[in-house]
Amino acid sequence: MNRLDELLMGQERIITKRNITEDMHELLPLIEEESQLKANLKKPNIKLLDKGLFFTYNYPLLNHPVFLGGKYGIKENTFYFPRKFYGNEDYLKKCVAHELVHYFQHFNFPELRHHSKWEKPFKFLKEGDAELVSNNISKKYFSEIKWAREEIRIFLEECGLIEDYEEFGLPYTKGEEILREKFNGERKSINSLYTLSLKELAEVFNLQ
Ligand SMILES: [Zn+2]
Repeated sequence: MNRLDELLMGQERIITKRNITEDMHELLPLIEEESQLKANLKKPNIKLLDKGLFFTYNYPLLNHPVFLGGKYGIKENTFYFPRKFYGNEDYLKKCVAHELVHYFQHFNFPELRHHSKWEKPFKFLKEGDAELVSNNISKKYFSEIKWAREEIRIFLEECGLIEDYEEFGLPYTKGEEILREKFNGERKSINSLYTLSLKELAEVFNLQ
């Protein structure tokens, strides 16, 4: 057993497609309200993964389901979640809400798909806003979030990976912080950022 599995022992929970589908139905109107965007999602494609799916060659150690809250695949229009989940119901909702925001982004701004996911300013906008919206609705409707945060921190410190992990998380944390500070979470302004150029967005997120 590896060190991370040892730290997480007894905490895993098996989730089902039904859990996800029910959460999605509950979350859709909340996201519409919070983001002031609309999206049509009749029968979502959901895939549960048995192994980690962390698309990064820089951080192979992070290829464990605990690091995957979820993922939305744009091209195949599919939501991915780990079958083994290391958090409570509210945390699962928070993760489903984050991925649903990605769906809303691509539904409302289809030109986004022409941008590479590696282009930092777009990553800051997409991840920062997914965090902003999902955290706001979580605070209002499902705030009892519990997940293996402490165990992950211990593991990353033991491997000397904590700084890499924090850097990896910047588009999420810093992106959200900037959207709150510069736009006060105001939706009209934030939604208009989706049509900016790469250069303009780099300025918004102080990425020159
Ligand atoms: Zn995301």
